[in-house]
Amino acid sequence: MSTFGKSLPTRPLVGIGSCLAGYAVRYNAQANEANEHVRAICTHFETRAFCPETGIGLGIPRPPIHLVGHATDVRVLDVMTHNQDYTTPIANYAQQVLNLAPMLAGYVLVKGSPSCGYGHVKRYSPQGHHLASDQNGIFTGALAANDPLLPLEDDGRLNDAGLRESFVTRVGAYHAWKNFITQDITVRRLIEFYSRYKYLVMAHHVPSYKVLGPMLANAGSMPVHVLANEFISTLMAALSYTATRDSHSNVLLQLAGTLKKRIPAERRRQLSTLIENYQIGKIPLIVPVTLLKHHIAGNPNAYINDQVFLDSFPDQLRVQKLGPIFSDPN
Ligand code: SF4
Repeated sequence: MSTFGKSLPTRPLVGIGSCLAGYAVRYNAQANEANEHVRAICTHFETRAFCPETGIGLGIPRPPIHLVGHATDVRVLDVMTHNQDYTTPIANYAQQVLNLAPMLAGYVLVKGSPSCGYGHVKRYSPQGHHLASDQNGIFTGALAANDPLLPLEDDGRLNDAGLRESFVTRVGAYHAWKNFITQDITVRRLIEFYSRYKYLVMAHHVPSYKVLGPMLANAGSMPVHVLANEFISTLMAALSYTATRDSHSNVLLQLAGTLKKRIPAERRRQLSTLIENYQIGKIPLIVPVTLLKHHIAGNPNAYINDQVFLDSFPDQLRVQKLGPIFSDPN
């Protein structure tokens, strides 16, 4: 079954900044407004909201904080005096979050925040002058260091369709992986796991596709946990590449090829036309995928049927406009 399908007991769990989840926890006692993509993600996934600043005991409202220092030695200090240093407790809070929610499969961060920002956060000199916008927030940096495979995005970057699809795809894969490793890991189970991801990896990054198969086939005497770590690191890195209309079309054509002689020529031509129309941007991916799935359902093939590539979930996320959300903050 696919990543988002019936074989997994739960929907993926995604962490989110509490202020983005609608809670008035910012320094000025206000919330951030979630854009439609954040709302869609929160509707399709399980979410759990965390606020590192209130999580370490800071009040609402509270004096604002910002990043100060050299690019390689940044602290998060209060803006007014630079006398209060919150770096260590906010960094430590990241591990608390991972302990509280060990099945986290992704995290939606908050653009520009000195705690929860993801890239391009402003950094200041000890005198308070803006030096650069080149940092992760302190919480984000610690989250990435403690769980390097955890898919991260912020609300601003989710406006980019390619980044959004890659994030959603990686969340699904990491959710599947975290379920997978709750049972004994064997080479055979790794091969079965990967067999569902082959076409998806091909759509995102062909060089990784060429590496992953031989990696599992030639496992040799490598300890299985070493192999598993190398495998999932390579898989997650592959899915971080943005799939294109050309790469998706290539995979669609290969999957359509498996139906040769099993559906009439007229229907094959209809499917090819849809794939061409998708490739030139006339229609969304979900259209040829839906027809492909229809034909596959009428001509069952377990290997093809189980391909995660065929799951239309990312497309649903792409097209939906949704209302208010959310789960309780910690
Ligand atoms: S610490 Fe993070 S979750 Fe809390 S208010 Fe700031 S950006 Fe939002």
